[in-house]
Amino acid sequence: MTDQDAALAAIRERLGPAGATDDPEIIAPRLREWRDRFHGRTPLWVRPASTVELAEVLAICHQARLPVVPQGGNTGLCGGAIPDASGQQLLLGLERMDRILDLDPEGGSITVEAGCVLAKVQAAARNAGRLFALSLASEGSAQIGGCVSTNAGGTNVLRYGTAREQVLGLEVVLADGRVLDLLRSLRKDTAGYDLKQWFIGAEGTLGVITRVCARLHPLPRQLQTALVALRDPTAALALLGKLRERLGNALSAFELLPRHGLELVLDYRPGARDPLAEPHPWYVLMEAEVAHNMPGGCALTETLADAMHAGLVADAAVAGTLAQAREFWALRDELSAAQKHAGPSIKHDVAVPLSAMAGFIEEGTALAGRLVPGCRVLAFGHVGDGNVHFNVGCPPEMDRQAFLAGWEEVARAVHDLVVAHGGTPSAEHGIGQLKVDELARLRGGLELELMRGLKQQLDPRGILNPGKLFRD
Ligand SMILES: Cc1cc2nc3c(=O)[nH]c(=O)nc-3n(C[C@H](O)[C@H](O)[C@H](O)COP(=O)(O)OP(=O)(O)OC[C@H]3O[C@@H](n4cnc5c(N)ncnc54)[C@H](O)[C@@H]3O)c2cc1C
Repeated sequence: MTDQDAALAAIRERLGPAGATDDPEIIAPRLREWRDRFHGRTPLWVRPASTVELAEVLAICHQARLPVVPQGGNTGLCGGAIPDASGQQLLLGLERMDRILDLDPEGGSITVEAGCVLAKVQAAARNAGRLFALSLASEGSAQIGGCVSTNAGGTNVLRYGTAREQVLGLEVVLADGRVLDLLRSLRKDTAGYDLKQWFIGAEGTLGVITRVCARLHPLPRQLQTALVALRDPTAALALLGKLRERLGNALSAFELLPRHGLELVLDYRPGARDPLAEPHPWYVLMEAEVAHNMPGGCALTETLADAMHAGLVADAAVAGTLAQAREFWALRDELSAAQKHAGPSIKHDVAVPLSAMAGFIEEGTALAGRLVPGCRVLAFGHVGDGNVHFNVGCPPEMDRQAFLAGWEEVARAVHDLVVAHGGTPSAEHGIGQLKVDELARLRGGLELELMRGLKQQLDPRGILNPGKLFRD
């Protein structure tokens, strides 16, 4: 019996059938990434019920040099939570650790176990009259531990920031099973290095997050949602500037989508309809908080009316009811699923400075057309914070395997353009397996050397999520 076999047997015994299984039928969905691009194998899926159990599992794995892949809701889009094909990597699920541990409305914090699904954290906060601000289309499955580990963004970053800005404290189990308690709810703490930052966006390569203390905000009293039609991204960014001048921080979402994207959702979602009478080349879905008895609502509609008068906005629909606002949001939230349904595409989750956004979309579209003649580019997303999902769709007549074989070439060219515009090849989805080579190519030198140094210090045996972020 090898050390690894002995370790697996010890873990099975420690966790029992409720916490460990090798049943292929149960595990299969966990070994496939949401977009079906990455598949893996594992000897065992373990699901500890507490920090103590999880720490024991890691201590055993460390001793036996058994690799471990942490997995949250498995909604990540870069293959970060999928084991490799060797069948030697343990899959570590957090779903049994999903308790709300503490909620402090006055202090503005909530403490939860890392396996809590985002929607559960949001609901607990809302029931206490507070807002947990992280919001993604995958929030029904994505876990808070996964979101912190990828430094997820979503639709509210414009106002509230990414997952990083929501985190006040963390509890983390290190590779050797030691528990690092950084679970403080303080807003100010200048006592030395801020170690929790290491684990935010580390994609499970430096430790396993077991508890999160997150920031809560006052619940917005009323939100106004509008779908606005424009001629191009330049007009969208000019509108963003005007809205920020007038509404300041009250603007919480500003999502760009092209007509092609709207059409995909209209085809895909039963009962969906275009809120505007005529088709337009581009749209922005926006949301702003309207304070009670304040003229905020007027400020949004007045700014839109002024912009329309100035020829910046072609048409607009302001949601009159909550149900209408939800319908507008569904047009945005279902875009990823509608696109997946429509066929393969080469995806880029990138960010550029706002001033470079329109130029990047225009040049990138021309570049994609040269590399894949006949392709359809879908550039959409959280452009209010500089993030665009730049997806190159398979031409209808092209063989999908031949199209996907060009992924690396297209991605390199697009990322080079992003970097030339001062941007990043990974805005909110992380590196996972998908962008390991691109990280090494585009963030080489001292930056990568320091990242590797940190990894070496915290996980000297390299058991935590090997092959993610870096090649072994
Ligand atoms: C329809 C759809 C829409 C999406 N929209 C957005 C969006 O708007 N913004 C955005 O940022 N992302 C978005 N995503 C991507 C995804 O939902 C996020 O990356 C999310 O943060 C992943 O959470 P998860 O729990 O599913 O993590 P997983 O996919 O399970 O894991 C992601 C990474 O985190 C690691 N990990 C998971 N849990 C832990 C833990 N407790 N400790 C240490 N490491 C851990 C894994 O090893 C892996 O590397 C979307 C995905 C889908 C399918």
